[in-house]
Amino acid sequence: MKITLASCYGFCLGVENALRILRQAKQDNSEKITLLSPIVHNSLIMENIAKDGYFVLDDNRSLAEKINSLDQGTIVFSAHGHDKRLDQLAIDKGLKIIDTTCPRVKANFKSIEKALEEGDDVIFIGITNHPETLASLSLDKNIIFLDFKNPDYSVLKKGEYASVHNQTTLIQDALNPIYDVIRKYYSHVKIINDICFATKKRQQALDEVSDEDFIIVIGDKISSNSTRLFELAKQKYSNKRVFLVNSLDEVKRINFSKNEKGFITAGASTPKEVINPIIEYLKSY
Ligand code: SF4
Repeated sequence: MKITLASCYGFCLGVENALRILRQAKQDNSEKITLLSPIVHNSLIMENIAKDGYFVLDDNRSLAEKINSLDQGTIVFSAHGHDKRLDQLAIDKGLKIIDTTCPRVKANFKSIEKALEEGDDVIFIGITNHPETLASLSLDKNIIFLDFKNPDYSVLKKGEYASVHNQTTLIQDALNPIYDVIRKYYSHVKIINDICFATKKRQQALDEVSDEDFIIVIGDKISSNSTRLFELAKQKYSNKRVFLVNSLDEVKRINFSKNEKGFITAGASTPKEVINPIIEYLKSY
C-alpha cells in the first residue's frame, strides 16, 4: 500500500514539555508523585506513566476533591492548565506542586486577564468541561462561555466591547460563524485567535491529501486536538474513508482490500509508539 505521511504530525512541544517536567520530577523527588488527571490526553502515555510508578487519579472527582483527599507528596497538574486557586489549597495541605501547563495555554490565560483588566466583556469558546475550558473560566466568574459544538447564544447580551478567546485546539473555520453571531451583540469585537501553532500546522497539513482512498488520524478519542483533526478531515474529504484510531489493533480490524493509497496524520498528543507500528503495518498491507 502506498502511504503518504502528513508533513506535520504527532507530539507538539507542549506535550514534550509536560512529559519532560514529569520525568525530571521523578529524578529530583523520592516522594510519591500523584497526577490529579491525565497529564495529556492519550491512554498509552497514561498507561506508561502508571507503569513508571506515578499515581494517577483518573476519576470523576473535582481537582479540589482530589487534593483534599491527599495528605503528603507531590501533585502534578496537567498540560491543559488549572484553576490557580487550587495551588493555595495544595500548599495548605502541605503538598508540593508540579505544574506542566503548556506555555501556549499560559499565554492564552494572560491574554484573557489583559482583556479583563481593560474592562472588555470576555467571551470564551471551548469544549464543555474540557480541563483547558475549566481553567480558562476559573480566571473570572464573569467570563461568558460558549460551547464550541453547540453554542447557546442566549447567554449573550448587547454590549460595547467584547474580547473573544478560545481553547487552543479548535478548528478555525468552525469558529467564524460563532464570531458572526457575537458581532450582532457587540459594537466592537476583538477576536483573539488562540488556536495554537501546533494545532494549526496539523490541520493545515490535511491540505496535502490528494488522491488517497482513505485518511487515518491517529489519536485518542478524549484528545481535543486529535478529535478536531478527525472532524476536519471528514468535513474536507467527505468522499473518502476517514478513521480516528488509537492503536494498531483498531487498524487491523479495518478492511483496506479495495484501497491502494492512504494518508496518515496524528494528533499532538499521540506518541510515536502508537504511530510507527500503524505506518509499518499499512505500508506492508
Ligand atoms: S496542542 Fe497546542 S496548546 Fe496543546 S499542548 Fe500542544 S502546543 Fe500546547
